[in-house]
This record gives sequence, structure tokens and C-alpha cells, in this order.
Amino acid sequence: MTIKWPGNRTFAFSIFDDPDSQTVTGLRAVYDYLSDAGLRTTVGVWPYGPTRERNSDGETCCNLEYRKYVRELSGRGFEIGFHLAAPHSCSRQETASGLDAFADYFGDFPITMANHYNSEAIYWGKYRLGGVRQRIYVAATLTKNTGRFSGNIEDSPYFWGDLCKEKVRFCRNFTYEGINTLASCPWMPYHDPERQYVNYWFASSDGKEVQKCRQLLCEQNQDALESQGGACIVYTHFGLGFVREGVLDERFRMLIDRLRQKNGWFVPVGTLLEYLRAQRPDVAITSHQRRNLEWRWLRGKLFRGCS
Ligand SMILES: [Zn+2]
Repeated sequence: MTIKWPGNRTFAFSIFDDPDSQTVTGLRAVYDYLSDAGLRTTVGVWPYGPTRERNSDGETCCNLEYRKYVRELSGRGFEIGFHLAAPHSCSRQETASGLDAFADYFGDFPITMANHYNSEAIYWGKYRLGGVRQRIYVAATLTKNTGRFSGNIEDSPYFWGDLCKEKVRFCRNFTYEGINTLASCPWMPYHDPERQYVNYWFASSDGKEVQKCRQLLCEQNQDALESQGGACIVYTHFGLGFVREGVLDERFRMLIDRLRQKNGWFVPVGTLLEYLRAQRPDVAITSHQRRNLEWRWLRGKLFRGCS
């Protein structure tokens, strides 16, 4: 299906930025640039700081300077996304308070979210897959993720599925290699009847750190995205190698400068998904479509380490 983009734009482009390893300096270097370049994308945050041993570094909204800058970005039209409540596993109560804090800081509950690898991650680990694909995944990960993620399991202390359904609109799932995310997942944003606590799922294109992101956004790929009239949602961690000694990576900057000269629709993830959703009345994925997404993701995961 070819999408007609608003304002006669040729393609759509967005980024979901995961806060792992991010610093205030790094965040400013990236977003002062993106902002000046006219892009509006999605900045993932943890609303709470760690209250016990953390499982990931990266700034959180408990740092006032960080929070102030993220709010400033929100005021400039960037979307703020939810990356679970804190950089460690959070009980149901902590997640509930984290969502309230998010609404307090940014004016409303999150439109988009991406799981962090906390115990309350929702439909994560083996729950991302069904049937034989789940068994292959469990065997391939040497069962290390078995039972680790339980945000969707009702009798778990980490359960928050009902809150997710009530308060969050779009949740990231599968990540693929190609730049045209919409070609990898033509049904997004979709509802999965077997995963009822998430309203809508979306896929993304893997640009997890600076090198991978440079490859994803290379000239040839940009031209392909444009000629296909597709949509790209990059999943990245701007904290991973994009800024060194306060300076933004030159090649990344050059690629974004090239991309923004094109007739693209550069909007936050939620805006892009809302537009796609409005184009399609029926968003429930069939089991055949789901198997197709799962197999392709599983191959990417096992052979190329897609997240
Ligand atoms: Zn993360």
C-alpha cells in the first residue's frame, strides 16, 4: 500500500531515542543540532532516577538540568517517550507513580514507549514471539531471559498491563535492518489480539549506535526510502558514540543534513503513527501477518543481533 504523505511529502522519517548511556552534554549536542536542522523526533526518558542498583547508565528526569532541557525540547515540538519508570526493575506501584510523574513533567501520559530490559518490560523476551519461534528463541538465548520479563503477567509484582492499555498509545516491538520500516511492517501501527494490553504496536529500523545508524542512513538508503515513498522510524541510543567531547559525530550530521534537503515529513513517532492509523480502519493483525513479522525478526536477532 502506498501512503500519501501530508503536504505532498515524498516519505516520512522519525527517530525513537533510547536514553541508555545518555548525558546532559550529549543530549544537548544531539538535540540542539536536530532542532536547528528542523527535525522533530521522539526522546525516550526514564521519569524516575534509580533508588537502588541500576541496570543501565544514562541520565534520568531526577536530574533537574536534564529534565529542564527535555521539557524545553517538548516545548519545541519534540515528543517525549516512555522508557519504563526507572533504570532498574519497578514494581507495579512504582510504574504507576512513574507514569504520573511523566504526565506531571510533560503535560500528559506518554503517546509512545519502548521497553527497557527491566522485569516489568511488557510482552518482552520470549513473550515477543509465539509457537515454535518462542521455543527457538528460548533455546537460542540459553533460556537466560526465561521468566525475566513479566509486565504482562497478571499475578506478577511487575504487572502493569492494564495501566499500559489505559495510558500509553503506541509501543515499540520488532526492529529490522532496512531503512523503510513501513516496508518491513506494512501493518503498523497494529493491534495484536493476543497481546491485548498494548493498544498499538510499531516496528523500527535498527540504528542502535553511531556506526549502525550511519550505515542505516547512508546515501543509498536515503535515496531508496525516498523512491519507495516509505516511512522510517530509527531506533537508536544517542548516548552510544554519537557525541565525543561534546561534539556531534560528523558523518551523522552530514547524513542528516543530506536527508533534510529531501522532501520528507520529519515528525515525532507518535505523529507519524497517528497519521498511519487514520489511513486504515482495520488495524488488528492476523496470525499469518504476525508469524511473518516474528520469523523475520527472529532471523535478524539470531544472525545480526537486532534488538
Ligand atoms: Zn534501554
